[in-house]
Amino acid sequence: MSKESILQIFSEKYKNKYRVYPDSLKEGKNSFFFMVRNDKSKYLIIVGNSDISGKFEGEFLGKLTLNKKTLSVKMAYLNHRNLSLLQEIFPYLYPSPAGLKKSFGTGDRLGIATPAHIQAFKDKDIFPVLAQQSARENARTGRTWQQVLDEAIWGCFETGYEGKFGADADHVKKIEDLSKAVDCGYTMFTIDPSDFVKDDIQQLSEREKDEIYNRISEKDKLEKLYLDKTYTVGGKKFHFDARSLRDIVITYFKALQHVVKCYGFLKDYKKGGFDFEISIDETSFATSPLAHIFITEELHRRGVNFQNLALRFIGDWQKGIDYIGNVDEFAGELSYHAIIAKNFGPYKLSLHSGSDKFSVYPTFAEKTQDLFHIKTAGTSWLEAVRVIAEKDPYLYRQIHHFALGNFEKDRASYHVTTDLSRIPEVDRLPDDELKGLLDQPDSRQLIHITYGSILTAKDKKGNFLFRNQIYKALFKYEDDHYKNVSSHIKKHLNLLA
Ligand SMILES: [Zn+2]
Repeated sequence: MSKESILQIFSEKYKNKYRVYPDSLKEGKNSFFFMVRNDKSKYLIIVGNSDISGKFEGEFLGKLTLNKKTLSVKMAYLNHRNLSLLQEIFPYLYPSPAGLKKSFGTGDRLGIATPAHIQAFKDKDIFPVLAQQSARENARTGRTWQQVLDEAIWGCFETGYEGKFGADADHVKKIEDLSKAVDCGYTMFTIDPSDFVKDDIQQLSEREKDEIYNRISEKDKLEKLYLDKTYTVGGKKFHFDARSLRDIVITYFKALQHVVKCYGFLKDYKKGGFDFEISIDETSFATSPLAHIFITEELHRRGVNFQNLALRFIGDWQKGIDYIGNVDEFAGELSYHAIIAKNFGPYKLSLHSGSDKFSVYPTFAEKTQDLFHIKTAGTSWLEAVRVIAEKDPYLYRQIHHFALGNFEKDRASYHVTTDLSRIPEVDRLPDDELKGLLDQPDSRQLIHITYGSILTAKDKKGNFLFRNQIYKALFKYEDDHYKNVSSHIKKHLNLLA
């Protein structure tokens, strides 16, 4: 019995009820597994061995006859329990670490874009990190670590993807969050020690800095290790004098202690290998090569085996739009960081806020010699909203007005230079020009930054204002949604591969 005949017979019998995702079809345990959808939802169909399908939660639909054999047909829900059973049968549905392979993260805030992301990675030699959300994003979208991971894996199943993929618990600040993400099955952990970074050092007097420094009990040891030491990187000398060492130590030392603690926890708690990233990308000032050397040397001295390091690079890295700054200057500074990462590691340099940074991608790939990881998230959300602007102008206008009303509040946690006065009055724009708003930096950032409010806002009765309508529209126009997101992510990947 061939795979194709199963789909044919199923489709004939249920043609008015379900549409099949043909690429999802897999064979295992004497049964066939594939995904279908109706106009409301998606399901897993299991045809064959009822001992196997009986373990899945769902409903029996009936029976099919194929080559005089009677096969049971079960419609199973896309829930966590069923996914776990499916992973046991098809182990490639478990995420795995990327190690030092060049990699790219596609944060999916809605949890429905993975099939589009997989399409974008086709024929590209870049390791996909398909599940990637930060603790902050989860708080804003009302999703959990488990949901994020499960939805990405269902997306893999839908497309029939059997390749490797990663799952990044991004910007984690607390050990309890790490522990939850390990329990869910994540394979990459990005520690954000920013609560312990002294970010206001430039406002302190020399005396204040000395006072803080003198309170650091390890300072004598650190001076023995680094004071008056010179490192040559790319032909340039980087020297720790008393002042630069003091400033770097008071800025980062406590943060590094937190990282060491998190790493120790993961090493004990997580069975099997994992990718470990440290992100210090959200400081108000760029990470200097000297500070980079200190961070790496300290982490290695204290036994932290990390694969990725996210620095704060020079220039302006705003959300959802291209790099603002001098690309040549960035390239010059980056070349020192890349040499440090290669010679002191090797480890990958990680680029956060990577959405739409088209002008720096070629440089980033070249200077790092493919030792890179890139994170995007907002850009997939924006491409989803573009579909709404195109297909459901009424819904888009409502979202747009709501976003304008929430912008001042929501921008507080972002560094952006959005000017709302440059955004055209949305009620005066003809329908077919609405999608163009997603090409204009100001309106792009408006929708980028307010995503949490848009997705969680409720009316007085406690019903979501937009969330269900957004999902409904994207479900209805799924092909357009997939096409938009995949071609946009491909634009990113083409510049990197
Ligand atoms: Zn970041």
